[in-house]
Amino acid sequence: MSLRHVVPALALTLAGGLAVAVPTGSAAAADVPGPVDGPRTAGDSLFPHVGNGGYDVRRYDLDLRWTPAKDLARSTLDARARITADATGAPLRSFSLDFERGGMRVSSVTVDGEPARFTTQDDAERIRHKLVVRPATPVDGRFTTTVTYAGVPTRHVDEDGSAEGWNVTDDGATFLNQPIGSMTGFPNNNTPADKATYTIDVDVPRGLEAASNGVLTDRKRHGDRTWWRWVQRRPMASELAMISIGQYDVTTSRVDLGGDRSVREWSFVDPQVTGDARRATERQLGRWEEVLGGLEEVFGRYPGVSTGAVVDVVPKDVNYALETQDRSFFPSSIDGNTFVHEATHQWWGDSVSPPDWGQDLYVNEGMATWAPTYLAGRDTEQTWFDAWDRVPSGDARWTIPPGAVADSADLFGYQAYNRGAQFWEALRLAIGDEDFFTLLRTWQDTYRGGSHGTADLRSLAEDVSGEDLDAFFADWVLDADKPAWPTS
Ligand SMILES: [Zn+2]
Repeated sequence: MSLRHVVPALALTLAGGLAVAVPTGSAAAADVPGPVDGPRTAGDSLFPHVGNGGYDVRRYDLDLRWTPAKDLARSTLDARARITADATGAPLRSFSLDFERGGMRVSSVTVDGEPARFTTQDDAERIRHKLVVRPATPVDGRFTTTVTYAGVPTRHVDEDGSAEGWNVTDDGATFLNQPIGSMTGFPNNNTPADKATYTIDVDVPRGLEAASNGVLTDRKRHGDRTWWRWVQRRPMASELAMISIGQYDVTTSRVDLGGDRSVREWSFVDPQVTGDARRATERQLGRWEEVLGGLEEVFGRYPGVSTGAVVDVVPKDVNYALETQDRSFFPSSIDGNTFVHEATHQWWGDSVSPPDWGQDLYVNEGMATWAPTYLAGRDTEQTWFDAWDRVPSGDARWTIPPGAVADSADLFGYQAYNRGAQFWEALRLAIGDEDFFTLLRTWQDTYRGGSHGTADLRSLAEDVSGEDLDAFFADWVLDADKPAWPTS
């Protein structure tokens, strides 16, 4: 299964070379580049072998049938993924999708209905898991790839030891994917720089629930099983796709957002969440209008198509909350700070996503850490000055710059959350309240549904404030030492 490594620049070099070599009389023919192999990377700074080039996914239609085994770890998926994409440059004679198969086997791949040749490549050491597809004829413009696969899915263990992807729980399975686990559930272009809409069909044994993103548009019983259809019609990064299968108490409501706007809530709480944890969870689940309304005042219109939460008892290494789009995930219970943190992510991280993991994550984690202190009415200047002040300049935590993380084991660290929140408060002091709050809303209005990071943020902050912020961004985002606290 040795595959030729495709250099991303190859397509450009060939096209450019041809244009120069062909006489002017044939210029029209020379402008049509020959078919190329799509690059097997999205160019991410931390995960250079994840993501795929040469196309832009528009839509995923996932059809997943989950069947428990006596030993739940041996439970199976029978699945079909239909991926509608646009070739973004030259026609593609081959292209790749990220797919970490575990115990699953791909039985067929078709492109626009025609059988396609395919190979799989797994190199766990380099985090490179590819399904390479060679269509019968090169694809150009829009094309649809259908992948049929089945077997026992795996989880993905990150460099920091946490588990993501397809994880078995004590009564089902949960599929949580930040940053790169989504490839354990379905083949995809596994970068938050390529967002798409989704239909997620999950078929489970009767008596179990299946939570996912977006709006529940259909649910049918057939024989001893239940089929759930979730539709996400806003752009979503594959890292934010979520499925959680198990026994849940399901609550639905309509959350009033003021004016004539409202969104549906679907929440799923594991019945094993009891006592204080249950009371704390239910207290938070009664706050949708207060929290989404409060955040709308700071960031503008709620970007989701629905809301809700999944609260599940999960294995220890899945012990983290996650801002899965529209419906955040919480392990075992919800506290107030985490509830507002994940709600903030619906704007910061979900509606506007980080294009690069190593360079842009702090934008969203920083805001999701800062916003709960602001919304709670705390003195944010004092809070984040104190946080900055209490870590001495020689501390190792300052040596990882938020905008240039070099090791994925460090990704979800101090620099993303705490220094990220300090960054936002420092920016507020540097440009003043009026420009700061204008910046937050303008960022959301301008980039809703897209993927934007540090470069766009600096540029917008400079436009809004009229100030040169190069030195500020270098100090706070790129320098591997303690940044200076601005004088207000
Ligand atoms: Zn977060």
